Amino acid sequence: MWYYSTRDRSIRADFSFAALTGLAPDGGLFIPETIPPYPPAVCSSLGSMDFQDIALETIKPYVHPVISGAALEALVQSAFTFPAPLVRVGDRLALELFHGPTAAFKDFGARFMARSFAYLRRNENRPLHILTATSGDTGGAVADGFFGVPGIEVTILYPKGRVSPLQERQIAGLGGNISALAVEGSFDDCQALVKAAFTHRELQKRRTLSSANSINISRLIPQAVYYAAAAGRALSGRVDPGGEATPRSPGAGAGANEGPSPSGKAATFCVPSGNFGNLTAGLYAMEMGAPIQGFIAATNRNRTVPDYLHTGNYHPRPSEATISNAMDVGAPSNFERMAAHWSYEALRRRVLGVSVTDEETRRAVAAVYQDAAYYLDPHGAVGWHGASRAEVEGRLQSGPLAILATAHPAKFAGVVEPITGPVPVPPALASVMDRSVAVKTIPAAITALCEAL
Ligand SMILES: *Cc1c(COP(=O)(O)O)cnc(C)c1O
Repeated sequence: MWYYSTRDRSIRADFSFAALTGLAPDGGLFIPETIPPYPPAVCSSLGSMDFQDIALETIKPYVHPVISGAALEALVQSAFTFPAPLVRVGDRLALELFHGPTAAFKDFGARFMARSFAYLRRNENRPLHILTATSGDTGGAVADGFFGVPGIEVTILYPKGRVSPLQERQIAGLGGNISALAVEGSFDDCQALVKAAFTHRELQKRRTLSSANSINISRLIPQAVYYAAAAGRALSGRVDPGGEATPRSPGAGAGANEGPSPSGKAATFCVPSGNFGNLTAGLYAMEMGAPIQGFIAATNRNRTVPDYLHTGNYHPRPSEATISNAMDVGAPSNFERMAAHWSYEALRRRVLGVSVTDEETRRAVAAVYQDAAYYLDPHGAVGWHGASRAEVEGRLQSGPLAILATAHPAKFAGVVEPITGPVPVPPALASVMDRSVAVKTIPAAITALCEAL
C-alpha cells in the first residue's frame, strides 16, 4: 500500500515513512491510495470473528508489505488486550470504547501506533524520541501506549495547572521511558514549542525526533477495527452482556441482552466528534465493506463540520470551551483527509451532522441514567442527543443504532456526578490516582526545552 499527501498526489510514501513522519513534507496528511475492500468471506463473517482476527484482516492491507502477517499478528495481540463491548441501552446500542488503560477510545490508536513504531525502528540503534503536546486527554493515551516500548523515549508537554489531577497522573505518573514537562503557558505554547523543536538544528543533531499526534495514519487505521466488529455483531444480533467495568447498576436492564434477534440490517453509528479522526476511521470501515449504513457526526458547540454538511461551506474557527472538552476543536485536522477521499455530495450521503449544546448534553446524561440506569460520559451524551435529534427530525433509516461511548464516565465525574450521583470507578482509573507525579516545570521557551531534553 502506498500513501500520498492530501495536498500533492506526487508525494508518495510507504507505511513506514507515513507513520514515522506523521505529516507529509508539504504539510498535508497522508492517505492510503485506495481503501481496500474486505475479502467477501471476511465480510460475511464479521459477526462471528474474534476482535483480533478482525483487526488483522482490517489492518493487513494498509501495512503490507512493510509489516509481515506474522509481525502484525504479534502487534495486534499486544495492542488490543481489552474488549470493545456492544451493549444494549434502552432501544439503542452503545459501543463501549473505554475499556483500555486510559479509559478512552484513543487507547486503540495510541497502543497500535506505539507498537508499530517500535517494529518499524527495530533495526535502528539510536532511540526514537517522541515529542508531543497535549491539552490533557491525548497525552495520557500516548504515554500509556508507549510506556515500556523498547527503543522509544517520549516527552509530553502540557500546560501547567490546566490539566485535571487524573490527567496529570496519566501523563506524568508512569516514569520509565515517559517524561513530562509542565510548560508555564497555554496548550498553544506547548504546541509552538514542539513545532520549534522540529526545526531546531542543534536538537535535530542530538535526537531522532518524531511526533505522535492525532493525524498520524497509524493511529487512524486501527480505529476502523471496532466499527467493523460492531457492525458485524449488530447485523447478526450478537450483543454483548457487558464487560466487568460496564457502568450499569446491577440488575438494571437484566435480560435485555438475552436472545437478541439478528437485525439483518446495516448499522448506523453516532460518533461524538472533535478532530474527526474517529469518524474518518468509521468511513474507512464502511468503504471496506463492513455492514454500515451511515454515520451521525455529533459535535458540541464547535460545529464547523455540521455547518459544512448543511451548507457546503467550510469555515474553520477558534474553538469554544464546552463540558465535552476532548471535542473542543474548531478546525478539525482530519477534515482535510475526509475531503480528499470524498466529495461534498459523497460525504452528505454517508454522514449526517448535528451540533449539541452543553445543556442538551447534561439532559441526555440525566435521561439515560433515569430511563436505562446507564452512565454516559459527556462525549457519549453528545452522541446520544445527536442521535435523538436525527430521529425526531425523521432523518434516520431503520436498523440498529449504535452510539460510540468514547470515554468512561468516571473520567468526567465533575460533569456526570452532579447529575447522577457517584459513578463507579473502574480499577484501571482508580489505580492511576495512587501514582506519584514526576514532572519538570519549564518556561515556554525553546532554550528551556532544549536544556530539558
Ligand atoms: C478525542 C476524543 C473525542 C473526539 O474524537 P476525534 O477523533 O478527535 O473526533 C471524543 N471523545 C473523547 C472522549 C475523546 O477523547
